[in-house]
Amino acid sequence: MHLLVLFVLRRLSCPTESISNLPSNEREVLYNTHRHPKKMFKVYLIYLLSYLHSTVNIMRKQREIKNYKITLRSLKIAKILLWGLLLTASGLYGQTSIVKSIVLSSNVPKDIQLRLTQALDTLIYRIYNNKSISSEIDSAGATLSITMFGNIKGIGIYGSEKNDSLYSPQLINAHIIGEDQYFISLAYVGDNTLKSIMNFKATVYPEGIKFSVPLFYLTRNWKEKKVGRITYHYADYFNQERAAKFNRENTCIAEKLGLPPENFDFYLVDDYFDILRFLGYSYDSETAGHENEGFSPVNGYIFSTMHNEDFSHDLFHYYAEKIRTHSRNSAAEEGIAYSWGNAYYVDNNGEMIDQRQLVEILKSYLLTNPNTSLLNLFSKNPPIFPFNTKVRSLIASLISDEVERRKGLTGIKLMIDCGHGDDNYFKIIKQLIGINATNFDAEVKQLLENYK
Ligand SMILES: [Zn+2]
Repeated sequence: MHLLVLFVLRRLSCPTESISNLPSNEREVLYNTHRHPKKMFKVYLIYLLSYLHSTVNIMRKQREIKNYKITLRSLKIAKILLWGLLLTASGLYGQTSIVKSIVLSSNVPKDIQLRLTQALDTLIYRIYNNKSISSEIDSAGATLSITMFGNIKGIGIYGSEKNDSLYSPQLINAHIIGEDQYFISLAYVGDNTLKSIMNFKATVYPEGIKFSVPLFYLTRNWKEKKVGRITYHYADYFNQERAAKFNRENTCIAEKLGLPPENFDFYLVDDYFDILRFLGYSYDSETAGHENEGFSPVNGYIFSTMHNEDFSHDLFHYYAEKIRTHSRNSAAEEGIAYSWGNAYYVDNNGEMIDQRQLVEILKSYLLTNPNTSLLNLFSKNPPIFPFNTKVRSLIASLISDEVERRKGLTGIKLMIDCGHGDDNYFKIIKQLIGINATNFDAEVKQLLENYK
């Protein structure tokens, strides 16, 4: 029994054995219970019970016990408690322990590797247990790091997947990037599945190790340019005209919705892979295949769509969310975003596609397909537009323009807050400008004529 307890305790302090088949020379204790007082207490309790168990056994053998039966009963109760505690402790340890991958070969000294992994393990433990991580985070860009690391719970850039218990973190890379500075990669792996590869920048300070998303390190040689409320960060080229337009739109959209315009740090990234990399992902299974998207304003940071300085489409969503009291109505919001901002995607020249260009494409489509139902185009949203832009959103933008023309910003705000789904959308546009499913084609065709 005592040996069994010691075996389980060893497993607890060395989770490598429980979830991987690494040979013993590759295994390493990368987990330190001293960081987690509650776990430590349980382990001490287990030690104590194991010690009691052994002592009683020895005493029994030496026949030094006066009331053998009572002792035996106590022993049975102790055994039940012991197993209960062992199972609880095993469960707690199973979730967040980091193991060293068999492929890891690193120049980072072993003692630093151990310290880094312990600190990272503590960070993940605190995130999983909804505890504050501010003392584990580097002060530069702390709000962004805290938000992005919070998504570790769902193990994805958006943190939306909830089946995280199926995946275990493995340390797959650690290298030195400067004095007391390191880059660490964790792979979250399940049975024959890779969930994500996450990267952390770690700095060793006298008071402890602090983490950050890699953004600030990876863009440390970038240039900066301030345009109004927007600070652009870029590696190579910068388009002043587009930036000035975006700065104007930032003020205009916020003021139209009755909000103060905000300041943003805008990173001009080449594509979605850059965004992943900067925010700490080499691979993210949730968004695998994404290429030409940006990343919504988060904690005052914007990541461009394909290096374009204008991100007004998502900026509208950002401000709209602040005035909404119901869940988002996608038709209403996409329509206004297409009209006040742009169609989100860029063309082959890197220019943002806008509403006017898409109106021309729709007009010529209707000329070559005269029997097309606009209501069908709106509800089925067939891919008749280039570069992922949406005919449904363009039609919704014609409607929102008409609402703004006839009902002003009060009408726009009612649309934004009309609630989820097409039923609510049709209810609000009927109430505001009398468009319904029956007159949809005739009314929208009429609206198209407003755009010459
Ligand atoms: Zn949108």
